[in-house]
Amino acid sequence: MGRFVLDKVSKSFGDAQVIPPLDLTIEDGEFTVFVGPSGCGKSTLLRLIAGLEDVTSGTVNIDGKEMTDVPPAKRGLSMVFQSYALYPHMSVRKNIAFPLRMAKMDKAEIKKRVEDAASVLNLTDYLDRRPGQLSGGQRQRVAIGRAIVREPSAFLFDEPLSNLDAALRVGMRLEISEMHKRLATTMIYVTHDQVEAMTMADKIVVLQAGVIEQVGSPLELYRSPRNTFVAGFIGSPK
Ligand code: ADP
Ligand code: MG
Repeated sequence: MGRFVLDKVSKSFGDAQVIPPLDLTIEDGEFTVFVGPSGCGKSTLLRLIAGLEDVTSGTVNIDGKEMTDVPPAKRGLSMVFQSYALYPHMSVRKNIAFPLRMAKMDKAEIKKRVEDAASVLNLTDYLDRRPGQLSGGQRQRVAIGRAIVREPSAFLFDEPLSNLDAALRVGMRLEISEMHKRLATTMIYVTHDQVEAMTMADKIVVLQAGVIEQVGSPLELYRSPRNTFVAGFIGSPK
């Protein structure tokens, strides 16, 4: 599961309305990308879905349940950020297991989940290393592993690759897409990078100043951009 319905959701910080009321549905299993220029409200929208920010108005419904006032830890979601805080003194295995140990899960179940996650992320050979002995891409994979083991109903990514160099970024995009295929879980992915949006998304949500300009598949946006902003941002002529 992992279906999201936002109904007239808005967000203001003080007097500044950064997201005017918007409606958005994200279907179960979909890879949805929020794309738009810096400051357009992508992270804020993701944080409203995660419960890390309170909505100013409107409702957030997850899998048919009203979740607007439910705290982040109880929404069944895992979030992956651009900066990944790994514990330097712990092995990869312990870093990935950390949220499960906090939840006091059974040891055998922890071992299984960590090894399954390592397999999805090609980290099996690195489980006994420490973060300092890994490349940037491997470290980001450990951070994703920590999100996977919780078996969330959806993954929320906020520009997870922007700290990586260009070559690594290309590989990590493929790995996240592959992970989406294998896990078949809803993913909501925030980026300001059009290429990332066009290559990874089932559905793209184009944002400008907190307003949804268009929602559609990469091909739909490319062929039929609704306005010059979308056309300019996606890079097709109109
Ligand atoms: P993006 O992720 O697209 O770059 P953000 O969601 O971070 O954009 O920010 C959208 C707008 O909301 C920006 O104008 C930003 O300055 C403002 N904003 C974000 N978080 C806060 C906050 N905690 N307090 C005040 N303004 C904020
Ligand atoms: Mg942001």
